[in-house]
Amino acid sequence: MAQIETESFSCSMCLELLKEPVTVPCGHSYCRTCISSFWDGEKKKIVYSCPQCRETFTQRPVLMKNTMLAELVEHNTNGRRSASSSSSGQVHCVASGPEQRDSGWTLLL
Ligand SMILES: [Zn+2]
Ligand SMILES: [Zn+2]
Repeated sequence: MAQIETESFSCSMCLELLKEPVTVPCGHSYCRTCISSFWDGEKKKIVYSCPQCRETFTQRPVLMKNTMLAELVEHNTNGRRSASSSSSGQVHCVASGPEQRDSGWTLLL
């Protein structure tokens, strides 16, 4: 039932794959640069909001890198390139299924 599709790896602001994915307190993820520039533009409003769900934060949230997403994105986009440093097929991702490398974007949780 819970299936993450390509969309989950995409930034809803630039619609590209997440680069340096960061997660805001509401749980949505964006590229660090996207959400940073978005909030930079919001300075005058004194409030920061999630562009996706409109949840507002009175303080600019600390952007925490979403390591899990970053690895998923990296793994799915770079394929074997990044696998050269580790043994092939070895993924340090807690959420990925064992056959994730063969299933493209499909990821079962
Ligand atoms: Zn983006
Ligand atoms: Zn949100």
